[in-house]
Amino acid sequence: MNTKLQILQGAGQIGGNIVLIEGKKSRLILDFGIPLTELDGNPTDLKLSDEKVKKYLPNIPDLYRNKQDKETLIFVSHAHPDHFGLLRYVDKSISICTMKVTKELIEKGSKLLYDNLFDDLNLVEIRETIHTPDFMVDGFPVDHSVAGSCAFRITDKKSKKDILYSGDLRTHGRSNIETELFVKYNTDPDYLILEGTTLSREETETKTEEDIENEMTEIFSDNKMSIVCCSPLNIDRIVSVHNACKRVNKTFVIDPYTAYILETFRGSDIPNYKSENIKVYCVPNSQSKKVFEDTDYMKFRYNRIDFDDIMATPENFVIKDNSKISEFITKRMSLDDINLVYSYWEGYLEDEKYRWHNYIDQLRQVHTSGHIAKSDLVKLVEDLKPKKIIPIHTLASEKFKEYFGDKVVELNKDNVLEIK
Ligand SMILES: [Zn+2]
Ligand SMILES: [Zn+2]
Repeated sequence: MNTKLQILQGAGQIGGNIVLIEGKKSRLILDFGIPLTELDGNPTDLKLSDEKVKKYLPNIPDLYRNKQDKETLIFVSHAHPDHFGLLRYVDKSISICTMKVTKELIEKGSKLLYDNLFDDLNLVEIRETIHTPDFMVDGFPVDHSVAGSCAFRITDKKSKKDILYSGDLRTHGRSNIETELFVKYNTDPDYLILEGTTLSREETETKTEEDIENEMTEIFSDNKMSIVCCSPLNIDRIVSVHNACKRVNKTFVIDPYTAYILETFRGSDIPNYKSENIKVYCVPNSQSKKVFEDTDYMKFRYNRIDFDDIMATPENFVIKDNSKISEFITKRMSLDDINLVYSYWEGYLEDEKYRWHNYIDQLRQVHTSGHIAKSDLVKLVEDLKPKKIIPIHTLASEKFKEYFGDKVVELNKDNVLEIK
């Protein structure tokens, strides 16, 4: 039999990717995500009921039982819930292959954010080419808005065809060199399964993370406290906030969870929680409690700051938002005396249940997408020279046709592409 390729989920929507590549003796699943529509208003909330998410599970019995009829491997491109959120249902006997950082983010997220729902997954770090009877798979780091993101190259041993899967990527972040190298080492693939998130959005000028840093520097430079709402997993953004603080000589106040993430990925480019202009506010919430259950992390307290010290000279601080500290601050200070900086995708603000929705009129929005801009997407395709392009993670497959003509093959769960 020839290898079959199917997009089980994620073809005509943003997020919730599940790609099936089925060979004679083995099968690969690329990503296993929950559609973003289920995550509205709280992009990190994965404590969803079975009833809400079970309907998205693909009908592949092997995934949910202890013995598989056919060797089955799952590959996860990065630690965003729309790419890994359904993994809690997968049988523990199945290997889930991913980059080291993604493995750690899912494991730590399970403990600190997701009520242990993702404990005991059989996560395997990709160190070299992975072989199955039908395929060879390699992972390539790419630039995206969460550390540890990667793309995959799958080689079908029978047909010798190469399939590239982009995952989510961009070329305007601090790690853009990784996307460039991914392209450089993977030209002329037979198939490219490519994300097109930005194709349905209005084209605006694409800001780099350096632009974000400059905008934040300007905002922080006035004589007010700033509260910044951003993801601690978006290390690029944390670097931008931290650099901006340094430039205007202010102290960045983070919570224990953010300190924990920085400590986990400690490296030369990543701010250290012990830096002079970083302080840890031991916010009394469940995440802090869980972080401090590990006595190793009690050390964060040696660089802590108390609430009253922040309130004594609020204009000297930039606060990483979390619901508790922002609640405490807004009880004591007028919103007129605070710069509220929102640094996520603006679409989340539309949900009335979202805490930041209430501040929509006061917000300064400073953000750049985790996804490749239209013009960069066109250039990426020019450089990669794929024979065929399969859209995914997009609301605008028709735009693919406009840009890439008859190279585009639209797939969804009902049509199967034979690789031969
Ligand atoms: Zn995604
Ligand atoms: Zn993503």
